Amino acid sequence: MERFDLNKPIKQVRGVGEARAKLFAKLGINTALDLLRHFPRAYEDLNEIKFIRDLRENEEALIRARVVVPAAGRYIRKDMTVFTAVAADDTGRIKITIFNRKYTAESLEYGKEFLFKGKVEFDRGALSMSSPEVLPVAKAGGMRALYSLTGGLTHNIVSNCVKNVLDAVGDGIEDLLPADVRAENGLAPAAKCYRAIHFPKDYNDVSVARRRFVFEELYLFQLGLQLIKGRNRGLTGTPMGETDITPFTRSLPFELTDAQKRAVAEITADMQGSRPMQRLLQGDVGSGKTAVAAAAMYFARGNGYQSVLMAPTEILAAQHYRTLLGFFEPLGVSVELLTGSTPAAKKRDIKARLADGSVDMLVSTHAVITDDTVFRSLGLAITDEQHRFGVRQRAALAEKSRSPHVLIMSATPIPRTLALIMYGDLDISVLDSLPRGRGKISTYAVDGTYRTRIFNFIKKNVDEGRQAYLVCPLVEENEEVDAASAKQYYEQLAQGVFRGYSVGLVYGKMPPREKDATMKAFADGNISILISTTVIEVGVDVPNANVMVIENAERYGLSQLHQLRGRIGRGRWDSYCVLISDAESAAERLQFMAKSSDGFKIAEKDLELRGPGDLIGKRQHGLPEFEIADLERDMNVFYDTLACAKKTFEDDPQLKKPENAPLRAWIKRMFSRTP
Ligand code: ADP
Ligand code: MG
Repeated sequence: MERFDLNKPIKQVRGVGEARAKLFAKLGINTALDLLRHFPRAYEDLNEIKFIRDLRENEEALIRARVVVPAAGRYIRKDMTVFTAVAADDTGRIKITIFNRKYTAESLEYGKEFLFKGKVEFDRGALSMSSPEVLPVAKAGGMRALYSLTGGLTHNIVSNCVKNVLDAVGDGIEDLLPADVRAENGLAPAAKCYRAIHFPKDYNDVSVARRRFVFEELYLFQLGLQLIKGRNRGLTGTPMGETDITPFTRSLPFELTDAQKRAVAEITADMQGSRPMQRLLQGDVGSGKTAVAAAAMYFARGNGYQSVLMAPTEILAAQHYRTLLGFFEPLGVSVELLTGSTPAAKKRDIKARLADGSVDMLVSTHAVITDDTVFRSLGLAITDEQHRFGVRQRAALAEKSRSPHVLIMSATPIPRTLALIMYGDLDISVLDSLPRGRGKISTYAVDGTYRTRIFNFIKKNVDEGRQAYLVCPLVEENEEVDAASAKQYYEQLAQGVFRGYSVGLVYGKMPPREKDATMKAFADGNISILISTTVIEVGVDVPNANVMVIENAERYGLSQLHQLRGRIGRGRWDSYCVLISDAESAAERLQFMAKSSDGFKIAEKDLELRGPGDLIGKRQHGLPEFEIADLERDMNVFYDTLACAKKTFEDDPQLKKPENAPLRAWIKRMFSRTP
């Protein structure tokens, strides 16, 4: 028999016509396979049938009863006919009321038995069920799948179509999991599980099937991640040798901390290895990651390789560029900045010089990876504040050269399990201490009644030569609206309480050139008070700024507040962070911020408050949306898949073997769903 092709368009499934196909498309279901993988979101247990005698008011109940008085309709008004019938079991009678559903009402013929499911009411002392679901008795004793639906589709329609697919394929569903993997992990075959998850007898059926699909999904996810980043885990295309970096370290205006020295040693050792580096540099805000990155870039250059440092925002890219220029210009190293707003002629020039190798170091936003930038010899690719980038973006960067060394930097301390999910087997360097000589940061959580005092405090610090950040009230998660309100807030303050001071404004949607000019003016001290949205959240480094005031602090997660606060405390002066909020519900969280300065503790608290799902921020990381797995719930299965994925890769590092082709196809399907 010819195998039913699950990739057939949904329209070729029996029971699906043009109209239904459109409805299914709304749910993202385009093929027969999509339909099978439209897993139920819940089940209705049709095992627990109650006697009418035992019904209680207001409970949701399922009864099995025979019609003793057939439905009679009563016309109430246009579009409204009420049918009433009476049904009975051996223990009592119940009134059944049905609104408008003529077809259902008419099926309630005298003497016929049905299942009725609905809410029990007392209508003038008599038991009744209003608008119950009416199901054939054959459904009794089973479970019924409930699906995410869209108008026009019902659970029954979906269920019938699924059944038609299953009947058409029979056992001919290809199993992605090899028999030995299934055996080792106690997983049932695919065909059986599809049947069980859509038409289970009981919850045990569901859980056996669900475990299999979760396992499969997480296993494929692992393989996908490894493929993306491990594509070049083979031999490095950029072998490097011992290089003296003391000219660089000697030229720094400070001495590297021990933690920085350790990180530099680990990184340069990796870069001399035969495999491409895959290292995460994790260090709290202000711990000095940029200098470590610069050392690595210098090391690459010493070996005749180019390097790129990629930042999530133009502001940060511009700042890194200035920093690197400061470090390297005196050493005769050529550094360029390439972002979306670089003028076209300049872009062309930089690209030409990247291609001919006369640019040593490039600072960029991800614009560089989306177009035709070619490096002559890219040896090192660094992404800063990498939690802002999607997996695919990072992979694209890594593909710029055959196998550059990869360093990613993050201030967000990632609990080990999450790191594992996001990066697989990365090596990690930690900057666990801050440079010496920093003033201390005090944090205060206050309500709006303190605003005047706070503004005066800003003025006092500015009068003493310092600078301040003021993060605007967040109106909503809409850049346009927020920009408008930021402008208003700025005008009100600049012309009001801060009249006579030099006040600047930055927000996300501002023209890049203006944004850059404002940031530069702030960095140079020509602007004293910078009013901004959270575009300054990551990376901005102006050591002379010592006050950070955040309006609507309740709107931000703890880690985000910590990032914002990380903008101050970078110089030798004492710094002050003030969190303004009138939301009582946030008081405890904000007090926690006031007491803690440890990024790791804050991240853990965040994790506790928000759950890993949110912290992983699927959207933010560009991870695929899972069809069935739930990382909070399925962590144990996740661990089981690790060993399994590792074995697969040991056997076939590139998944190039013909028998692994289906795996590849599935991974592609999965990662194409990346938001
Ligand atoms: P982050 O880890 O948050 O990216 P940065 O790299 O922006 O931190 O560094 C924060 C500040 O600390 C910068 O002003 C930088 O010049 C300074 N800095 C970095 N390393 C040292 C050091 N070893 N001693 C003193 N200051 C340092
Ligand atoms: Mg930084």
